[in-house]
Amino acid sequence: MENKETDICIVGAGPAGLLVAKLLLDKGYKVILLDKQKDFNKEFRGEYIQPGVVNILKQLNMFESLEPYSITITNYRILDHGKVVFKYDFDGNYGICIRQSLVLPLMLKECEKHDQFSSCLGQTAFELIKKDDKVVGIKTKGDYGDFDIRAKLVIGSDGRNSIINKLLHVPINKKQFLTDILWINIECPKNFGNKIDIRIYDEGYVVLDPAFPNQIRMGISIKKGGIGELRKKYPDIKEFTAHIVKVVPEAQAEIISAVTAWSSFTPLSVSGMVSEKWSADGVVLIGDAAHTVGPFGGQGINQAMKDAIILARIISQSSHSEFAEDKILDQLRELRYSEVASVHEFQLAQGRLLEMKGLLGRVIRRIIYHRITRNRKSGNNILSKLTFKDLTL
Ligand SMILES: Cc1cc2nc3c(=O)[nH]c(=O)nc-3n(C[C@H](O)[C@H](O)[C@H](O)COP(=O)(O)OP(=O)(O)OC[C@H]3O[C@@H](n4cnc5c(N)ncnc54)[C@H](O)[C@@H]3O)c2cc1C
Repeated sequence: MENKETDICIVGAGPAGLLVAKLLLDKGYKVILLDKQKDFNKEFRGEYIQPGVVNILKQLNMFESLEPYSITITNYRILDHGKVVFKYDFDGNYGICIRQSLVLPLMLKECEKHDQFSSCLGQTAFELIKKDDKVVGIKTKGDYGDFDIRAKLVIGSDGRNSIINKLLHVPINKKQFLTDILWINIECPKNFGNKIDIRIYDEGYVVLDPAFPNQIRMGISIKKGGIGELRKKYPDIKEFTAHIVKVVPEAQAEIISAVTAWSSFTPLSVSGMVSEKWSADGVVLIGDAAHTVGPFGGQGINQAMKDAIILARIISQSSHSEFAEDKILDQLRELRYSEVASVHEFQLAQGRLLEMKGLLGRVIRRIIYHRITRNRKSGNNILSKLTFKDLTL
């Protein structure tokens, strides 16, 4: 294929890339979007969209098409050894659990309504093209052959292993979580309801997220790198399953039918990082490419989409001659860094809290969750931040 030219080249068609594409197309920019994957069939990605982001999707008239493929979430609970120690009702608002594999193609269709848009799925970005230290495009290879895309601005929305981040050599603040998670989808038991649960037990915790159309995405925490140890401890998978059934008794039949071997699980490493720099002349990072957070609290997609909204605003409020300059693009990091870093710290602290064992752990959790609930009632609370209550377009 021939080399191409555009205003904006977006690398990565995840939630961040697709949303920023749509917002910039609406503002009249010419956009090329590429993704190394040919399709959107990814399992085990973030699926929970917070109430504040749902409200934004409504304002963008994107919600109507996503709604039929989503499950409404009205509350979030933490149970400690079977006792509810924290409950957060969204007070009339609601979040949704989506399937990225169903929703991303719908977002792509929205972009395709614009003449100024083109996409290349199955095409990988592997090098930045520079002129006088300024990024002026990318080199790509893949299903369409090798070609360059020249662009006034390259947006790196290429996820947690971002090549654009690596090519920029930005300093990274990476923190380790204590756990990895084993993921599995099970059929949804009757009357599970419209909630997300974290259930703490002696050996860790289990996350239960409804998954469209009628499943539960279950995540079981294990010690970091500890899958081998666990397999030795429970050579018969049924013994492990019996433990989990005690934590999720209402799904006994569904768990037994889904977990037939250790290979039924998909193990994923839990990590988080915040890049110290997000942009340079001609290039900017958003979403997981700039920062990743832990899986509890449903933040990843939402933080990624918030970046997209704010970046589109910054670009559209700048002149055509200036929008790709680092001094403009750096506003994104200035506006977002402290929030992302504090969510990152909160997630690390939450991870440590969930992992605390024994009576002391239970007592400390009870005190902390009680304090968060009390602060919420006084209106000053991290929960507003985590649910993106005040997000505007
Ligand atoms: C198991 C799991 C559970 C999670 N649970 C939640 C949750 O409940 N709630 C939540 O909010 N978040 C959750 N997250 C995180 C969430 O999935 C991510 O934060 C979110 O998808 C980030 O969106 P993004 O658009 O920045 O990146 P991604 O969704 O990762 O998209 C990046 C895209 O870039 C493409 N790409 C990568 N490299 C290249 C390249 N060189 N060239 C071209 N294309 C490239 C990839 O194929 C991919 O499509 C979870 C993540 C995992 C792994």
